[in-house]
Amino acid sequence: MSSEKSMAIVLRVIEFSETSCIVTLFTQDFGKIGALAKGARRPKSSFESALDLLAVCRIVFLHKSSDALDLLTEAKLERRFRAGSRDLARLYAGYYVAELLREMTETGDPHPDLYAAADEALLDLERGTAVGPTVLRFELTTLRLLGHLPALHGCAACGEEMELTGRMLFGQVAGGLLCGQCRGGQRQVASVAAGTVRVLQQFAAPEDPSWRQVELDAKTRGEVRGLITHYLCNLLDHRPRMHEYLGALAGTSP
Ligand SMILES: [Zn+2]
Repeated sequence: MSSEKSMAIVLRVIEFSETSCIVTLFTQDFGKIGALAKGARRPKSSFESALDLLAVCRIVFLHKSSDALDLLTEAKLERRFRAGSRDLARLYAGYYVAELLREMTETGDPHPDLYAAADEALLDLERGTAVGPTVLRFELTTLRLLGHLPALHGCAACGEEMELTGRMLFGQVAGGLLCGQCRGGQRQVASVAAGTVRVLQQFAAPEDPSWRQVELDAKTRGEVRGLITHYLCNLLDHRPRMHEYLGALAGTSP
């Protein structure tokens, strides 16, 4: 058992006893962890109310080697998530970031790059960046970093490069674009505009801030949302809980 330090985002807090909580944290250096926070519910605990949903904190914990919960020994608050108190859509978007991190990552699988992306998404929600694009950027970055990005430049089945033009075929099960040769026998194939694929490419591109300048018309926004929602549902085997609350993102939200 070793004592470790890391930055962490609080993904979930469950009351465990009168005085303790079990927390799920997404750490910068160790990926997702589950930890027991003894005494966290006492008024004067060593966690100083740092264990708030979506708060960013500096933690110290005892890393258990087995399947047992880690033991949180210290949590110092760096930043509370305040965007949610101003605007319900920002609150739900924050919850959704936490949901994707919880559901799509494995315990103890480090992804510092994904930590950075989540931190940036939460900061964007704080700073007033439009909710829809912030969420889409985080979804596509998460898919890319975890190796689940759909094929957006070539055919998902044969790998052939594809020119973006007119309407294209997107195989939800195949995992991306499909060329005319490969569409036969594929299930859940949708027709999407080339412009929609271009938007997805742009939002998925690493180290490229140009997604911040993209203005989406309602039709493209609807098509992008429909495609990614369907894709994530297939990947997770269920509909993300927060999608119900984020429905507005496909419609009028900026
Ligand atoms: Zn093909």
